[in-house]
Amino acid sequence: METPRGKKVVIVGGGIAGLSAAFYTKKIFEEQQVPVEISIVEKSDRLGGKIQTLHHEGFIIEKGPDSFLARKQPIMELTKELGLEDELVGTNPNAKSTFILNKGKLHPMPPGLVLGIPTKVVPFIKTGLISPLGKIRAAMDLVLPKRTGGDESLGHFIERRLGKEVLENITEPLLSGIYSGDARFLSINSTFPQFKLMEEKHRSLIKGIMTSHHSPQPIKGLPEIAKKSMFLSYKNGLSTLVDRLEDVLRPIEIINGQGVEKLTKCEKGYKLILENGTELQADGLILAMPTSKAATLLPGFKWLEEIPYVSVANIALAFKKEDVRFPLSGSGFLVPRKEGRTMTACTWLSSKWLHTTPSGNVLFRVFVGRAGSEGWLKLSDQELLSAVSKDLHDMMGITAKPFFSEITRCLDSMPQYPVGHKEQLKMIREQLGINMPGIFLCGAGYDGVGIPDCIQQGKKAAMETFDYLTAL
Ligand SMILES: Cc1cc2nc3c(=O)[nH]c(=O)nc-3n(C[C@H](O)[C@H](O)[C@H](O)COP(=O)(O)OP(=O)(O)OC[C@H]3O[C@@H](n4cnc5c(N)ncnc54)[C@H](O)[C@@H]3O)c2cc1C
Repeated sequence: METPRGKKVVIVGGGIAGLSAAFYTKKIFEEQQVPVEISIVEKSDRLGGKIQTLHHEGFIIEKGPDSFLARKQPIMELTKELGLEDELVGTNPNAKSTFILNKGKLHPMPPGLVLGIPTKVVPFIKTGLISPLGKIRAAMDLVLPKRTGGDESLGHFIERRLGKEVLENITEPLLSGIYSGDARFLSINSTFPQFKLMEEKHRSLIKGIMTSHHSPQPIKGLPEIAKKSMFLSYKNGLSTLVDRLEDVLRPIEIINGQGVEKLTKCEKGYKLILENGTELQADGLILAMPTSKAATLLPGFKWLEEIPYVSVANIALAFKKEDVRFPLSGSGFLVPRKEGRTMTACTWLSSKWLHTTPSGNVLFRVFVGRAGSEGWLKLSDQELLSAVSKDLHDMMGITAKPFFSEITRCLDSMPQYPVGHKEQLKMIREQLGINMPGIFLCGAGYDGVGIPDCIQQGKKAAMETFDYLTAL
């Protein structure tokens, strides 16, 4: 008897969102015993998108993301499903403090700060990062009335509650590490909706955070390591996740080195044309690519083109231990915009992530570029190295040259969710459902930039595809 032909699902984009979408599509259809054919189409020659680990003479160097938040269920669930729990590695418990540059000097970040919101009174009073007036202004959060209403920028929100100093000296540099963004542009509802809810519920942000800290929601099923370290990675780097996904997905068709150039609706679903002219048919389609690239396939959806992306670079620098005299007693430092430096942050990898560096060496990862500061794009690699070496000299007194460096330019890599992003996205998805049913969007440009958010979106797109195809 002839086996029934499965529905054809094509996933465009082989980053973590696309790979997760493929993994969960396969799993859901198999569990429900519904036949399916899955293809992944990836423009570049390798899978993983932003995730890319370089192994060099015993160093483990991340060219994109370097870790994920341990309390995020989607990544912990996927790690478990892929049998990677024993590969997890946490940060060095003795390197917890982070520093912030203020007027050219590194200050320890006071304990108990959540994105600049003080939850411990004494360390906040003592910190040299905020002036006495700035501290009084921050404390006014306790008495200021709440504001109800729609979305606003994260910068406006923090300044309104805690004042300009907290925003510029603490929140903005911390944000650079997550969104490389300009807080005055980013939507609070799409980045930190929990803060807005806290204001609605408790009026004061400080009170809201303190209440949630005193009664944290226990997360069930987390491995021991996730209870000890806020951030996790894998012993051999984040590419472990990509490689394992590729292994378990391999029976399905993976087309590398070919982008999708054109998408048309046809009688039975969709037709895709690849760069080399190959045609693919799809009953269901998951677009797991940057929004501007999705917009080229969906010409009716102009708004997708308008979500800005910022370019950043990260530079790994390896030194001999004896060449770095500065005490590396923490995980690194952040550089506020107003300090006018080339670098936006520096992670002391050899202190924070012990597995990354062979003994006798020091490894740093320096970050460059954020919204509104993209002048570095004009610099050659040599000029970029000189500029960050000057910063390292001025901040940490390092005069030696690194014996190894690796520059990664991540062009148009960090989506910046504008105010109103959530509402626009809802409209786009509704229109898509009416005009181009069976197409689902996922990835960093939509509902969260972190790796766990992208996994969650891939899973949701897989479930939506299953529901759509089985209801036909
Ligand atoms: C420098 C940096 C540091 C970061 N650090 C962290 C961190 O520490 N922790 C964390 O959780 N997150 C971090 N992030 C964010 C996170 O890495 C990304 O948001 C996430 O990896 C994006 O995954 P994605 O699948 O949505 O997109 P991508 O990884 O961008 O994948 C999209 C894929 O689509 C492909 N594509 C594009 N056009 C086409 C086409 N026409 N046809 C076929 N394929 C196409 C691309 O080649 C790409 O492989 C960081 C990001 C950067 C840039």
